[in-house]
Amino acid sequence: MKVCKFGGTSMADAQQMLRVCAIVESDPARRIVVVSAPGKRQAKDAKVTDLLIACGEAVLAGGDGAAARQAVVARFSAIEADLNLGDAISRALAADLAARQAADRSHKGRYMDALKAAGEDYAARVLAAVLQKRGRVAAYVNPRDAGMLLSDEYGQARLLPESNARLATLRDHKGIVVFPGFFGYTRDGVVVTFSRGGSDITGSILAVAVKAEIYENFTDVDSVFAVDPRLVPEAVAIQEMTYREMRELAYAGFSVLHDEAVIPAFRAGIPIQIRNTNRPEAPGTMIVPEHRAAGARRVVGIASDAGFCSINVSKYLMNREIGFGRKVLQILEDESISYEHSPSGIDTMSVIIKEAGLTIPAEKRVLERLQAELQVDDASIERGLALVMIVGEGMRFNVGMAARVTRALADAGVNIEMMNQGASEISMMFGVKATQRQQAVNSLYRALFGGQGNGAGRETDGGGST
Ligand code: ASP
Repeated sequence: MKVCKFGGTSMADAQQMLRVCAIVESDPARRIVVVSAPGKRQAKDAKVTDLLIACGEAVLAGGDGAAARQAVVARFSAIEADLNLGDAISRALAADLAARQAADRSHKGRYMDALKAAGEDYAARVLAAVLQKRGRVAAYVNPRDAGMLLSDEYGQARLLPESNARLATLRDHKGIVVFPGFFGYTRDGVVVTFSRGGSDITGSILAVAVKAEIYENFTDVDSVFAVDPRLVPEAVAIQEMTYREMRELAYAGFSVLHDEAVIPAFRAGIPIQIRNTNRPEAPGTMIVPEHRAAGARRVVGIASDAGFCSINVSKYLMNREIGFGRKVLQILEDESISYEHSPSGIDTMSVIIKEAGLTIPAEKRVLERLQAELQVDDASIERGLALVMIVGEGMRFNVGMAARVTRALADAGVNIEMMNQGASEISMMFGVKATQRQQAVNSLYRALFGGQGNGAGRETDGGGST
């Protein structure tokens, strides 16, 4: 049995939904289909979820929210009309949305979640109707009826473990189950959503509950690429990577799957496959517990992300001062700033944090406290950093990786502000000036993936590196 999830662009209009139907119908093992709300049809389009947020915000701001509501209903009625389904679903949606808008507003999170959830809910009803019209045995299944119980953390719910037993019975459901992603119910029966992009989580939860052989995640790219194709247009596709590699890459800017979606599948050892709704024949990317082929690629990908800064502290004899690091981190904790990395030397310590988390007043307070409470010799903040991360399980067994990588950065004239190799040895991270990120990534890509006999682990990847 396969669980497949279709993202927003796969559900964006009638034509896309027909592609979804064809994919589902082409394999009888695809018995549970999780859907997102209709997303963008083209770059400037609005996602239904964003329109639904506008529906709620307009009312909370004192308006009637009718324009946003009509925009949502218009999206659905166009889809319904194009699929010759009549107008029953979009009429029900119009009434339901008006009721959701008129509901109790005393708890903003709860109010907004009810609206946000409508996109997935109605998308699933439409898809089930099309499948039925095409002669399939298919049914919309409501998460409440299926027992998808979530914590009452509005906008960032988590699965309650007691859900699993009931969700497992979806396995016995006759025909194709069409299940809306992104939301579930609290124990009190109130709608609650995961964080944005959370339909991925629903898919993963269901795959685990029904013990699926695979969780197929259909999106709008052929595969995950070894590097962001916006930075390196000739980027090669990754055919296979492990959950750990995926996690490390996602951290530094690879947005493939919702972070939380990986955890349930990872624990249950269910492989995840990223596939393209628009090109189902493309091989996609498999995310697996362990590399199946011997001699896994040394490097599977290069991730990078800008928007970091570094707090640099130095103090003579810092190494002898017990609790110094904890006190530095405590100051950040008091400011509710989470830290990303903390490379240190004998008398120096840096803490890398996300730039967005450090406002100018917070920066001033942190520096003052470092001086006053820790009597540091020097404390400064360097903004405008980017992190570049090289990831691959195979790096562990590879002598000379760091040399190759630092050589590539030197050749590109990129100064390494900081480097860090985690204990897992499956990633190496470099801090560089954000202005040099593009050069750094290009040069690393050429050194690790590009021709000329030094390609990283070509041994398992026939995937046409240029
Ligand atoms: N529709 C929701 C969002 O846009 C959830 C999802 O698509 O996964 O965040």
